[in-house]
Amino acid sequence: MDLEQLKRGGVVKLKEKDQFSVWVRAVCCNMDAVKFRKVAELAERYGRGIILLTTRQFPIIPFVHFNDLEAVQRELKEVNLMLDRCGARVRNSDVCYDSNICPLAVTNPLTLGEKLDEFWQKDPGGHKIKTSIVGCPKQCTSPRVLSDIGFVGVAPGRFDVYVGGRLGLRPFIGEKMAEGLNEEECVRVVKNLLDFIHRSGREGERSADLINRLGAEQVRQEITKDLAEKVDYKPYACDTKQSEKIGGTILRIRATAGEVTSAQAQTIADIAEKYGKGFIHFAVRGSAEIPGVKEALIAEIKSELAKVGLGILDSGIDNLQSCFGEYCTNGIVDSRGLLKKIEKLIARLGLNDRDIKISAAGCPNTCAISPISDIGFWGVIEPIVAMEKCNGCGICAKACKVNAIELKDGKAVIDYKKCKWCMDCINACPFESIAGGKRGYAVAVGGRGGYSPADRRGGETRLGKVVAEFLSEAEALELAEKLLEEI
Ligand code: SF4
Ligand code: SF4
Ligand code: SF4
Repeated sequence: MDLEQLKRGGVVKLKEKDQFSVWVRAVCCNMDAVKFRKVAELAERYGRGIILLTTRQFPIIPFVHFNDLEAVQRELKEVNLMLDRCGARVRNSDVCYDSNICPLAVTNPLTLGEKLDEFWQKDPGGHKIKTSIVGCPKQCTSPRVLSDIGFVGVAPGRFDVYVGGRLGLRPFIGEKMAEGLNEEECVRVVKNLLDFIHRSGREGERSADLINRLGAEQVRQEITKDLAEKVDYKPYACDTKQSEKIGGTILRIRATAGEVTSAQAQTIADIAEKYGKGFIHFAVRGSAEIPGVKEALIAEIKSELAKVGLGILDSGIDNLQSCFGEYCTNGIVDSRGLLKKIEKLIARLGLNDRDIKISAAGCPNTCAISPISDIGFWGVIEPIVAMEKCNGCGICAKACKVNAIELKDGKAVIDYKKCKWCMDCINACPFESIAGGKRGYAVAVGGRGGYSPADRRGGETRLGKVVAEFLSEAEALELAEKLLEEI
């Protein structure tokens, strides 16, 4: 079984034997109710009756057996759904709302999102390129940290451009590379970046690596050249079906740890058709959202949602967001379990009126965007080399993304000052010469993914400060309680 080939096609191996997650693409992060109902049906039939809504802003069906992958893909195709891709390639664009829906939007990010789909369709692969487009400087999809190239709407049809954003082991806050570009110029910038990274990038490099290696100025010159030269592309229409002012409000549905059951997803689809505009938007913090709902009907909708155990995010604390956590091959801790306990803690403390974002990821790759949350957790593990077993092959040193391993006298030696506690070396060693020592949670405080002038700690995008490492679950909960009371 070629796992890299599967990943390229949107099928990602989970920790359990022969179990995979299927990544269902939602162009511009929207999906009509008919399609979402199909996803729910397939999760019930071929998975374990749950759907994960992740920071990638589309639904994922976990726990599909290898033997069922073909059937799932075939059935998705019947409703015109395809899979997104994982790994080193152009990824589905993260987009927030059409200006017909979001009252804050100064421009429409969807039309640019539809144009950038060309690069997703035609990418030859080799470099991970995430793109993100937002309609205003609030930056709901966190383009400066979650995307290699982020567009922030600043005026009608005009965007500022940020390059280099990423989280994970080597986080980078994207640098501003251009201001006030129109859509055609933005498309050109993406084309230039792709051409440049394919021409000059080293194996697996991302845009942050180009900036670190070549300097921001050279990257800026390369990606902003020939802006007036038009790129030939074919836009791909997303599922919003809206050309007029939609009105109403956006109903945000709570999905703790980004998880809904198939039955809950069916209800969300029904409500989108009955009370909304027939489509669902997947937000960066893992909630399913239904735009265009009349405020007068919210009480009625709430009671329909309550029948399947769902609530809405109508108070301060945002959706508690996790990644795959313990299901993932890299998962070190049960981040999903931790969040479910934090949810109970919040209820016990009666703190749901605070404007706080909390996330927990299974490992330091922080796919659950923990470093840009007010309180962010991630799993950490200490790697320990058993010298008597190590044969000095160096595979672990190649696997370590932060160069924390050196070979000395034919043995792997870890520089713990550089180590990010991620487990890559443990997974990579073919001789099981690296074992896990202590494990637990790291905690960061004060992160922010967008911009808010009202934020008393400073409104700009920033990474949280790590305040603890290797906490047990009980200690993490104790710290969460203290922090929640302080914030
Ligand atoms: S943060 Fe780690 S555990 Fe979570 S999905 Fe990413 S790689 Fe997996
Ligand atoms: S991969 Fe394993 S055997 Fe090879 S150098 Fe690293 S620890 Fe030693
Ligand atoms: S030494 Fe191992 S655990 Fe530490 S950062 Fe490198 S790969 Fe990750």
